[in-house]
Amino acid sequence: MPVAIFDMDGVLYRGSTVLPGAKETLERLRHAGWQVFFATNNSTATRAEYVERLGRLGLGGDAEHIVTSAYATAHYLERLDPKPRDVYVVGANGLREEIRATGITVREPSSLPGVEPPGGAAADGVDPGAMRRYLTGVSLPPPADTVVVGLDLHVTYAKLAEAQRCVLAGALLVCSNRDRAYPVEGRLLPGAGSIVAAIEVATGRTAICIGKPEPFLFEEVLRRAGERNAVVIGDSTDYDMVAAHRVGARGVLILTGLTDEGAVERARGEAVPDRVIGSLRELFALPELAGT
Ligand SMILES: [Mg+2]
Repeated sequence: MPVAIFDMDGVLYRGSTVLPGAKETLERLRHAGWQVFFATNNSTATRAEYVERLGRLGLGGDAEHIVTSAYATAHYLERLDPKPRDVYVVGANGLREEIRATGITVREPSSLPGVEPPGGAAADGVDPGAMRRYLTGVSLPPPADTVVVGLDLHVTYAKLAEAQRCVLAGALLVCSNRDRAYPVEGRLLPGAGSIVAAIEVATGRTAICIGKPEPFLFEEVLRRAGERNAVVIGDSTDYDMVAAHRVGARGVLILTGLTDEGAVERARGEAVPDRVIGSLRELFALPELAGT
C-alpha cells in the first residue's frame, strides 16, 4: 500500500492549532488503505510524546507511524558495524531515551566532566580564568566512542568541550538534524544546527546528519512501511522536498506553514517540489492521489 509521509508542524498544525482539513485528510487516506506516517526533525520529544500530542489534536496515529530524528538516529546507530558502545549526547532526554531503547549505552548528563562549576567559575563572564582552571582540573572519563548532537536548550561550554574532546580522540560525530532555527510561539530560537556547527568548528570534522534534508529519516519510514512508493507532504523546499527526492519519493509542497514568499521560485534541483498546494483540501485533486 502506498505511503504518505507528513511533516507535522506547518502542515497538520501550527503550534496548538490544527490546520483546516488535517483530520479529514488523514482519515480519508487511512480509509483508502494508505500507510500514513509522521516524520519530524525534532529530536527533543520521544515518539510516545508525539502520540500524545497527535491524539490531543484529534489526528490519530500510533508510535509505529511516527518517526522522529531522535528515533531515526537511534536506529542508524543500531545498524552500524561495529555498533557504538558508549554514546555521549549533547541534546535532550528524548534523544537519549530513543538511543537507550535500542540497547546502546548512553552517558548520564550528570556524568559530564564539568557539570558542576563552582559559583565563581559559573558566573557569566565574571572570571573566565576560574572556568578554565575548573575545566582543566576535572577528572576525565575515557572518551565516548560516539557523539550525538541534537537540539539542547541547556547547552554549555563544558558540554561543547566534552564533545570536542571525544571527537578529537576519534569518536564518530552524528547529528539528529541541522535545523537553523527552532520556531516557537511568536519568535525563532537557535536550532540544533547552531550547536552542531559549534562542534564541527571546534573539531574540524563534519557530522553525519540523520534528519531532513538527508535521506535517513525518510529511509527509516520506508523501511518500516516495507514499501517505497511514497508521497511526502511538507512545508519546506530545503528540507522536506530535498529529503523526499533523496529517497525517490514525490514531494508535495504545502503553503500553509513556514514556506516563505518566493521559496518555490528560488528552489533549485532537488528542492523543486513536484506539486504545490495551498491547503490540504487540494491534496486529493493531485494525480498522485487519484482514486483515493
Ligand atoms: Mg514543517
